[in-house]
Amino acid sequence: MPFRTLTGHRPLLDLLARAIAHGTLPQSLLFAGPEGVGKRLTAIALAQALNCERPVPFGDTVAAVGTSPTATANDGCGACAACTRIARGVHADVLVVEPGDTGAIKIEQIRDVVDRAGYRPFEGRRRVVAIDGADALGLPAQDAILKTLEEPPPASVFVLITDRPDVLLPTVRSRCQRLRFGPLTPSEVAALLIREAGMSPAEAHAAAAASGGSIGRAIAGAEEGAMDAREAAARLLQGVATTTDPRRRLDGAKLLTSGGSDRDELSRRLLALSSLVRDLGLLGARADDRTLANADLKPHLQSLLKSYDGDRALRAYSVIDRALDALGRNASPKIVADWLALNL
Ligand SMILES: [Zn+2]
Repeated sequence: MPFRTLTGHRPLLDLLARAIAHGTLPQSLLFAGPEGVGKRLTAIALAQALNCERPVPFGDTVAAVGTSPTATANDGCGACAACTRIARGVHADVLVVEPGDTGAIKIEQIRDVVDRAGYRPFEGRRRVVAIDGADALGLPAQDAILKTLEEPPPASVFVLITDRPDVLLPTVRSRCQRLRFGPLTPSEVAALLIREAGMSPAEAHAAAAASGGSIGRAIAGAEEGAMDAREAAARLLQGVATTTDPRRRLDGAKLLTSGGSDRDELSRRLLALSSLVRDLGLLGARADDRTLANADLKPHLQSLLKSYDGDRALRAYSVIDRALDALGRNASPKIVADWLALNL
């Protein structure tokens, strides 16, 4: 997947593409950021951009007057033999190292890629070594790669990928140029789930809202029933919005614990509730729609705004927070749900 097909991280992709166009790409890179936001895909796109047979321009990188047009061809075409082989993981010069069954990256794996990086590329222009899950490198393995990161062989680029950069040796970190990947926005996650995972818009938005900006977590959330959780949460909000009658409110609590739901299920419903209430606060403050985690439910949320003005939304948010906290400290799910419905 070339740069232009990736989701999010635009400033960072611009930076990489510009560095490729200007020939200033650092040879030791550290891609740091949460799991499931596209760090590895970016490393693969980088390998394609460096080795593509028919590269194309990316974004608004423009050639300085008088430079050759190829100076701006800084993104893979995605279709040539090199791009396809890289995408399939069979290009001789693009090596991806990752933890094995033991959860560790063995020192032999590192010695192997360090050795291979010493030779000229076989079929491409640049050898790219991506170490995915670099936090799984033991101390001896980190030691073994230190010298290579400091002085990489001329045609090689090393990319260390991790969601826990701080467990790497400071000496390893300091030899790499660090690129910080942030979480994706809920709308970016939802769009990706609709396009790549074939989810319905409702399913995708519900999973995205509870994903914290990680595709991996969104897909796991969808499997665990993020859509049902959000629907239960939305019905509860609707149910308690205009009534102070405790009996009717307790009926609402049953929506949270219905179906013999367990602690995890209730916690998912509370998180969905929390994200809906957060959106109510944003809508009340007239924030940009793109900041909404549940943009697809905007009309529904708008109808709740009359009942949940700024203050009540804020109070509700902290009530949900306390409920989640109590649940985490082993309080009974039924008591938590009842207390929440009475106080929302
Ligand atoms: Zn290509």
